[in-house]
Amino acid sequence: MNIIDWEKEIRRWEEEARRWDKEIDFWRNEAKEITDRSAVLGTSVSANSTQNGGIRIANQASFNVLLSSLPAGARRIIRMDNNNFIDARSVNTAYLRYNRSGNMQALRTITADKRTVYFDATATSYDYINSEAGIVGRFHFRAPTRVNDFQKLLNLFTGTPEEKQLYAQELIRQGIVDEVSVVGDFGVVLRPFNAQQPFPVGRISTTDNFEVYINPVGTTPMERAKYVGHELFGHLYFFFTGKDPRHGGASGSLNGNPLLEQQIDARERESIFNFGF
Ligand SMILES: [Zn+2]
Repeated sequence: MNIIDWEKEIRRWEEEARRWDKEIDFWRNEAKEITDRSAVLGTSVSANSTQNGGIRIANQASFNVLLSSLPAGARRIIRMDNNNFIDARSVNTAYLRYNRSGNMQALRTITADKRTVYFDATATSYDYINSEAGIVGRFHFRAPTRVNDFQKLLNLFTGTPEEKQLYAQELIRQGIVDEVSVVGDFGVVLRPFNAQQPFPVGRISTTDNFEVYINPVGTTPMERAKYVGHELFGHLYFFFTGKDPRHGGASGSLNGNPLLEQQIDARERESIFNFGF
């Protein structure tokens, strides 16, 4: 983009922002009206409660991580209610605008579901039931490891600059790429004991709820957004829509569940894209 294009783009965003401010004012008034009306009728405003299901967020920081995976305009509409549940009504409103977003589609499905999901992107550990041993264990998140094998080998090399150049070419020929590879645990979905069939796994939640954790230890904000896409809109969404949510499916083989891999790939990509705005 050149400077003129950028200026146009910025003006477009400013207009967009102004439009959203109006929109938000509208919904704020709407919400206030409903609150007032409910107060008169003595009913609750919240569309969600622990009985009704939906997504309960651990804290504001976790909410921000979840929002960072969504389209920027949707972020400004979606709210938490007083019980820390994502407000289903606000999700529906955002969905009307962003119904082409696969992340929004998944979020809408999950928030409308009767089952309760606990979402935490700040906990450094979580408890689970080991399904084989039947005992409770605690998993501690660790920082992912990041290595660039190419640079590591090149740094170890002693020789003239010309020799080093040849060595670098040889490494590339061997398929060693000049990039950082990241290995680690980025998150998990735990399903309760009564939600294991027909896709049982090794780790079960210690509560009656579904639990989603995103690793906060040594991960970048973009990686956290990406793994919201992976865990919440990939694994959990698949189970909620009756599909096998396990990598490898029943066989456990690398290509055992291509549908899930496609979904996860698409949701991770969208999350990274959304994170950039
Ligand atoms: Zn996974």
